[in-house]
Formats: sequence, C-alpha cells, structure tokens
Amino acid sequence: MFKNIKEIFTGAWSILVGMFITFKWMLKRPVTIQYPKQPTRPSPVHKGRIRFVIFPATGTHDCIACLKCQNICPSDCFEIKGDKPAEGGKKRPNFFTYNFSNCSLCSLCIEACPTKTLEHSPEFNLASENKDDYFYNFLNDVEERKKKVDATVNR
Ligand code: SF4
Ligand code: SF4
Repeated sequence: MFKNIKEIFTGAWSILVGMFITFKWMLKRPVTIQYPKQPTRPSPVHKGRIRFVIFPATGTHDCIACLKCQNICPSDCFEIKGDKPAEGGKKRPNFFTYNFSNCSLCSLCIEACPTKTLEHSPEFNLASENKDDYFYNFLNDVEERKKKVDATVNR
C-alpha cells in the first residue's frame, strides 16, 4: 500500500517537473527558424567551399600561381596554370579550377598559400543534383563576386 502511494507521488512529481521545463522553454525566444522561408547566416566558424580572397586594397585576389595549394591538396582538387606577364611583375594564374566534390575541407591549401589568397566561403546552401555545380573556375568566380559587390554598392 505504502509502495503504491509512493509511486503515485513520484509519477505526479515527474510530470510536474516535466511540465515546468516545458513551460519555461515556451516563454523563451525560439532558437530554431523557418529555413528556407526565413533567411539565416552560418556560424562564423562555418567552413564552406574554398574560394579566392578578394582584397579590398586591390579589389582582386593575390594568387601568384605557385601551385603550393595544388601540391599539398590530398584530394587533388585544384588544376592551376599560370604565366609571368610580358610587362613583368608577379606570375599570375590564367587557369584555376577547384572541384568541391573531392574537397574534404581540411584547410591545408589555405595554410600553405603564401599570399593568404584562399579562404573558406560562408556559403552553406550548395545542394545540387548536378556535379558540374561543384566545379568552380576561380577566375570567373572572382569576377562574378566583384560584379555582385559593385551592384550592391551602386544600388
Ligand atoms: S580544403 Fe583540403 S581537400 Fe579541400 S581543396 Fe583545400 S587542401 Fe584540398
Ligand atoms: S597557394 Fe595561393 S598563391 Fe599559390 S597557387 Fe595556390 S592560391 Fe595561388
């Protein structure tokens, strides 16, 4: 008899504690959002695909086609070709592709780059059924991104 009464009180107490926690969280601001209807930003430490940094001082990347990223990449993601300009100056890439399908986001290429011209993109909604969508031409990508920045500034 005493055991049954104890079980009833224990069960009622656990329900009260559970309801208290539920009501407490009902009054807090939700941490979830209605994505994709509601836009969101990734965490500052999110590691998206690799891309060129666009330096504000020059308005473009600073790749010198040294191939260090290509040589260190364990997944063979890059294909790079470059030349020294006829007028002199730094060697520059004339072909630079990156295959995101192979990339393990290990960041070795970023660490190896002597001009700090590689970074992880903040993009996160890159789902696609077409594998060509994961194949990036970095030189075209930089031009596209510059156009988007110009359009935003001139809006
Ligand atoms: S993050 Fe790693 S796997 Fe991806 S391109 Fe760079 S070195 Fe290669
Ligand atoms: S390591 Fe940096 S500078 Fe060298 S080819 Fe790669 S991106 Fe260009």
